[in-house]
Amino acid sequence: MENFLPFALPDIGEEEIAEVVHSLRSGWLTTGAKTKRFEQDFAEFIGHGVEAIAVNSATSGLHLALEALGISPGDEVITTVHTFTATAEVIRYLGANPVFVDIDPLTLNIDPTKIEAAITPRTKAIMPVHFGGLACDMEPILAIAQKYGLKVVEDAAHAIPTTYQSKLIGSLDSDVTVYSFYATKTIATGEGGMLVTRNPEVAKRCRIMRLHGISQDAFDRYTSTKPSWHYQVVAPGFKYNMTDLAASLGIHQLKKAWIFQKKRAAIANLYDAELANLPLHLPAKPAEGDIHSWHLYVIRLDDSVEVSRNTFIEQLTAKGIGCSVHYIPLHLHPYWRDTYNLCSEDFPCASYAYKRIVSLPIYTKMTEADQTRVIQVVKKTLT
Ligand SMILES: *Cc1c(COP(=O)(O)O)cnc(C)c1O
Repeated sequence: MENFLPFALPDIGEEEIAEVVHSLRSGWLTTGAKTKRFEQDFAEFIGHGVEAIAVNSATSGLHLALEALGISPGDEVITTVHTFTATAEVIRYLGANPVFVDIDPLTLNIDPTKIEAAITPRTKAIMPVHFGGLACDMEPILAIAQKYGLKVVEDAAHAIPTTYQSKLIGSLDSDVTVYSFYATKTIATGEGGMLVTRNPEVAKRCRIMRLHGISQDAFDRYTSTKPSWHYQVVAPGFKYNMTDLAASLGIHQLKKAWIFQKKRAAIANLYDAELANLPLHLPAKPAEGDIHSWHLYVIRLDDSVEVSRNTFIEQLTAKGIGCSVHYIPLHLHPYWRDTYNLCSEDFPCASYAYKRIVSLPIYTKMTEADQTRVIQVVKKTLT
């Protein structure tokens, strides 16, 4: 369609392009100095002494995190149904089982008050997802984890930069936090991800498993007494390393993280103001003083709205406005539904939200004219 307004668009500048070209000309295409620099920059960005480990996707990072924390066959990991399948699939990679918990109807994040009831003797970890870039209520989640001796892995695919109680996500007391740099995310490298942790043992294991289970020491040519061709495989690892081409993008995207966040927040604010009197719920706001990354702007249609959510999206699409649904909750997908005998009644809030949610376009390159167009079409469709 002509003049179609996309739902999301990456924001790649000349700096990113020049850096990629520099890598191409250098002849070093895979993991190298730029990946290392991106890791250092990222660790500095999060602060609080975290180590950052670059990977080729958040999915890889989440898998590495659970593996390093010792998640094993038969273990249980508590997470939300209101997420992308990657959050739960990595639990299955290790032969463990996800135990799904319903969401808070306002934030669409995991409902911390429902977590304790889901704990069994097999429970090993909790994986909160900061949906859309709004921080989960981490204080009760971390308290439950401490009480029951559980690990916490934050799926922060949407949450750069997001704060909780004025601290950046990634600097809280969880075990590992994982970000995504997938093309549509707030910082984009096409495909890519970053794992951060303050636990040196976990970091060491993740670095080894990220690249074929090859012992790190052998790679450290300056301190190792072994010849440079020598390496040792200590585990059946994975191929999860980030390329310097992706890191070239990441280095410059990260520098703009706060500029991007401000642009997204301005878009969210204008939507909030312009859509306030329509029969819909606006997205939940962060706590006073906290930062929302605004990866997604998700409205929920009121029950009084005559058109169905699907018809609403069709009408917006027909007017050239790209929108989406985040997410089709996991209990409605055949694999999760059938493997764990899940039904909508088990997750009343997520099931209800699913019928009413629409993600409106939000991205840094969106102009005010673009946004006015979206607002006018939404208003016309709902009144
Ligand atoms: C995008 C996303 C992932 C996976 O990220 P990749 O980098 O594509 O692997 C995981 N969880 C959530 C919530 C996501 O939105």
